[in-house]
Amino acid sequence: MGQPQVKLAQQYVRTCAQRLELGHWLLTVEDGGASEDYADVARIGTTAAHIKLYQQFWAASSDLKRLTVAHELMHLHTWTLAELVPDSHAASRSEVEERLVDTLADIIAPYLPSWRGRSWRR
Ligand SMILES: [Zn+2]
Repeated sequence: MGQPQVKLAQQYVRTCAQRLELGHWLLTVEDGGASEDYADVARIGTTAAHIKLYQQFWAASSDLKRLTVAHELMHLHTWTLAELVPDSHAASRSEVEERLVDTLADIIAPYLPSWRGRSWRR
């Protein structure tokens, strides 16, 4: 995906993050190339994260793009919760976390701005 699209995606992610009370996070976005996934998110610091958007993301409908961004951003909220669960439960924790994030993303995505593939700044 070209740099202009990646830049737009980064703007979109930041706009959505502000709506989700995550405006204080430093978020970077990168085209991750080919993968079976749509996207993933990695924590870099206390309030910094890097999001990779894969080929399937760029090919997805705008609704699915919005849902994907909602999903990745919800992880930022659940990381805080996950830290409260003991490490001995780490395996089931990530499964539970993934299901929780899916549910929250389904609920929240319709309230986020739509993906348009062009600048949404006024
Ligand atoms: Zn996830």
